[in-house]
Amino acid sequence: MVGRRVPGHSASSVLFFFDKGVGTRCLELVLRLIIETPVSTTPQPVVVNPTETLSLYQFFAPGGLLSQTHAAYEFRRGQLQMAQAVEQALREKRHLIAEAGTGTGKTLAYLLPVIRSGKRVLISTGTKNLQEQLFHKDIPFLESALFPNGDGKLRVCYMKGRNNYLCRKKLYDLTGQPVLSGLQEIEQYRAIAEWEKVTPTGDRAELASLPEASMLWPRLDARAEKCINQKCSEWDRCFITEMHRRAMESDIVIVNHHLFFADLAIKLSAEGAPDAGILPDFGAVIFDEAHELEDVAGTYFGVTVSNVRIDDLIRDVETSLLRHKTLSESITSATRSLRDRTQLFFSLLPPGEGRFAFENRREFLEENGDEFLSLMQALGRLASELQTMSEKPEEVFNFIRRAEELRVQLSFVLESEDRNTVFWIERRGARPRIEREPASPNPGGRPGRASGATFHEKSNVFLQATPIDVAPLLRSCLFEKLETAVLTSATLAVGGGFEYMRGRLGLEHARELVLPSHFDYQKQAILYLPPDLSDPRTPQFVARAADRIRRLLEITRGRAFCLFTSYAQMNELYNRLLGELEYPILLQGDAPKTALLEEFRTTPNAVLFATASFWQGVDVQGEQLSCVIIDRLPFAVPRDPIVAARVHAIDAEGGNAFYQYQVPAAVITLKQGFGRLIRSLNDRGLLALLDNRILKKSYGRVFLESLPDYARTTDLAKVEEFFGLTA
Ligand code: SF4
Repeated sequence: MVGRRVPGHSASSVLFFFDKGVGTRCLELVLRLIIETPVSTTPQPVVVNPTETLSLYQFFAPGGLLSQTHAAYEFRRGQLQMAQAVEQALREKRHLIAEAGTGTGKTLAYLLPVIRSGKRVLISTGTKNLQEQLFHKDIPFLESALFPNGDGKLRVCYMKGRNNYLCRKKLYDLTGQPVLSGLQEIEQYRAIAEWEKVTPTGDRAELASLPEASMLWPRLDARAEKCINQKCSEWDRCFITEMHRRAMESDIVIVNHHLFFADLAIKLSAEGAPDAGILPDFGAVIFDEAHELEDVAGTYFGVTVSNVRIDDLIRDVETSLLRHKTLSESITSATRSLRDRTQLFFSLLPPGEGRFAFENRREFLEENGDEFLSLMQALGRLASELQTMSEKPEEVFNFIRRAEELRVQLSFVLESEDRNTVFWIERRGARPRIEREPASPNPGGRPGRASGATFHEKSNVFLQATPIDVAPLLRSCLFEKLETAVLTSATLAVGGGFEYMRGRLGLEHARELVLPSHFDYQKQAILYLPPDLSDPRTPQFVARAADRIRRLLEITRGRAFCLFTSYAQMNELYNRLLGELEYPILLQGDAPKTALLEEFRTTPNAVLFATASFWQGVDVQGEQLSCVIIDRLPFAVPRDPIVAARVHAIDAEGGNAFYQYQVPAAVITLKQGFGRLIRSLNDRGLLALLDNRILKKSYGRVFLESLPDYARTTDLAKVEEFFGLTA
């Protein structure tokens, strides 16, 4: 049996949400930007299936192979059920959506049918952590279980985004260049140079000593926009080429959602060209942590233009041409002009910090059209100056392409009228302070425009265009083309059904499965809902919530995550409780996430105050985590530009965005947050939600019906009893 090829996609099928005026060229350029590795993708034969004599029951059931090989074996009915459903989906070429709660053992439940299928299957995860767990833990375990004598091997590889891998050419080019700044960078450079000689993969995860926030790494990674592909002298030894070769020889390819959608976007833009994209052809895909698909897909089918990207281009042009001693006066003049115009244009964008809608684009262009055109011309001028170079170093072709892409994308985010796209701005870092000269007289009666500006600080400004609804795109370009997609996660169902998730993702035809839990939630967890607290939207809430958190932490003796829906609320409650609790308190932001988690695990009775990033993907087993307190129902921030656009779109079509979108999305998030507590059969503890709208509002029922079957109380005495504090 051979891996199946995914049918080619038509670029026109994704163009419907892009502006007609920008057209195919825009989309091609937008999408090609993300990853480019033109390597042949001919399907490869797959090894003879080593498990074909073994039924799933014989593997998972008591007395079966798993029980003989897994030290912590327990029979999990849900695991066997899920494995059978995945096998059926693969065999019958159907889609499956399956909610498998913590403790199901879902990775083995899909890996075994995948191995038995004889197809090349992509497994796409939401996080690198799960990707690494699959590759470094689950696959070796399965190999040792299936081939105890070491006489067989599974053909598996993992692939990450290109920026995780070292670019050998950049490293060699940097050698001897006096461009490293500071001792730290010199030390990092030496470590990377030594590692490059021995690493088989070039994946930075191998280089534990390299700080997460290394400023040097982004200058050495293998991202596509700076790669010259087959023209590169290191092409044959390139880690990206090697990664692709490994994938072509593998039956299971483990990727993450970001890489999957980046690749899909490129293939769509290339209209099925055989050498487009980086992932090999495959017969099926398993999306684990599938609750994240909508957001990731939205990112890769959108467009982002920033002053950072333009500055990077200018710097790359100057550095490269200086190295090649081909930096002419005319190109220097073009980069200088581009730098000035970029700075001016981005400083004129509407003020605001964080994420906000760019609603008045037309008025903005009316007022600042000259600066916009100047920037467009400066990008065009740089591209044509580079084009006219008589002897072009290979990188120059890349620079020309990048300048043209920026022009097309800039035009799109400023001028497109596409109705399925939300246009927004994200500003990070220092806010610019601009001193304007007096505006010129305006005979047309329109508001005057500043005639000049002086800049004092610079912020990073991102102009974004994001599809509001990715469902039509995913339906036509993914689910209708794929034979089998399995979507799984611990949090996909709302009120026991998948209507919400299927609607958001455009998954029309799929078998549905909610697996029975492996945990006894009635005995292992108590959910406390205080009926007497104020509405969390009132000013009285914080003081009363602080009292209640203190009381709950006394009962549980710390050992708790306090999870908040905003930084402001987290900081306020942290400051109120800091001097009042006798337990060590950790605060998100005081240290990197992994360091904080390690400190939490090793500090007796610790309490961690945290926000969104700790609501999912965090695993603390045992007594050290005996309590999870959540401040309020986690509705998405309504003024967030993407949320607001989705709400508006649903309401405009006659729907009810609150019930169709905001409540179900918050249900999924709440399930994720509470899911931190019970991670094994031996875990037990308290869940508390301080927002009693769950009891008082009619929509609260949807939350309660969607949560696992925890014991539930509104009485603090019952909580004390649960922890053995009363008779
Ligand atoms: S092909 Fe060359 S330029 Fe491209 S990532 Fe590989 S080493 Fe770097």
